[in-house]
Amino acid sequence: MYAKRISSLPPYLFAEIDERKKRAKKRGGDIIDLGVGDPDLPTPQHIVEAVCHAAKDPSNHRYPSYEGMFAFREAVAAWYKQRKQVSLDAEDEVLTLIGSKEGIAHSAFAFLDHGDLALVPDPAYPVYKNAAVLANGIPHSVPLTEENEFKPDLESIDREVARKAKIMFLNYPNNPTAAAVDKSFFKEVVDFAHDHDVIVLHDNPYSELTFDGYEAPSFLAVDGAKDVGIEFNSLSKTYNMTGWRVGFAIGNSEILKGLRLMKTNVDSGTFQAVQIAGITALTGSQECVKRNVETYKERRDILVAGLSSVGIEVKKPKATFYLWTKVPQDFSSSLQFSMFLLERAGVVVTPGIGFGEEGKEFVRFSLCVSAERINEVCERINLITDLHQYNNK
Ligand SMILES: *Cc1c(COP(=O)(O)O)cnc(C)c1O
Repeated sequence: MYAKRISSLPPYLFAEIDERKKRAKKRGGDIIDLGVGDPDLPTPQHIVEAVCHAAKDPSNHRYPSYEGMFAFREAVAAWYKQRKQVSLDAEDEVLTLIGSKEGIAHSAFAFLDHGDLALVPDPAYPVYKNAAVLANGIPHSVPLTEENEFKPDLESIDREVARKAKIMFLNYPNNPTAAAVDKSFFKEVVDFAHDHDVIVLHDNPYSELTFDGYEAPSFLAVDGAKDVGIEFNSLSKTYNMTGWRVGFAIGNSEILKGLRLMKTNVDSGTFQAVQIAGITALTGSQECVKRNVETYKERRDILVAGLSSVGIEVKKPKATFYLWTKVPQDFSSSLQFSMFLLERAGVVVTPGIGFGEEGKEFVRFSLCVSAERINEVCERINLITDLHQYNNK
């Protein structure tokens, strides 16, 4: 019944943990879900008010333009100039998306022909690999190892593979590893892309969720980047707007044109009222972003302290709302450790294997519940004392 591309998608690895989560909830268990990467805080009020107002205007009820409202694209350009020191031509270097996930998935269709290689980090947000598979391309895993601070070792990519590669996905600050990079890494990426004629697709939805003075650079802030790639960003994580579906792609105008062509045949753009609210988000006071960062920082510090106190080693991440921690020694896999935390502590975490083979010794904790609940997580994990034994044996 299904097309081969559907059956060729990798199995849904979170299915089992979802099933157990449901069962635990049914039994009346008080489950704390640190599995999802979806802000628990509401969208700031001034943005909600902007959409309510815009939704009442009939001129917003018709089809939006494919590339997005010019005013929205101008707001993106101004925001990038201010936040990331990147100059963009709002006319042809900015494209509105229905959330960045949409643009990421459609990019695979815009740039991969049957059998073309896509370089995909492992572990990674699953959409990169799955979109390549759906587009009949061939995903080629590039490992992100702890030894290399979860950055790809570009030197070690096989010459032949590099030659064949058409696109490369990257994502810093990174989901799931919470790794952050500086501009010098992006410079290496630009050189690699030049040398091997690879299109770089950099995904940057956590660009504003940074701590302790770290600022996440845009890929496009590096000389030559605009010749080789584009960057995706989104209002989802910065402004707690995951449900609204609005993001954008910026950078190389020829690459964006390909993505736009793909999109014109599949969707009809983002609801204008949502784009207008997006303008309010990007051009209004950024105090709400600061408050978000403070909130995640407080949660991060509580969880890092709690995990450390039971011997689970974890470094404080400089960005994102995730902690990526090694599974304690006596657990055989990330899945087993996740099940243990769910069954014994009622805490849901995401097994690293769900993000790729290289994630198999890690789990991801997200920080999308209140500080109070995170304290509760720490207490519960502290109570399951065999964890100590597992560790100190
Ligand atoms: C959350 C997330 C996205 C999706 O963002 P949307 O704009 O809501 O589609 C994209 N990439 C990564 C790595 C994410 O974690």
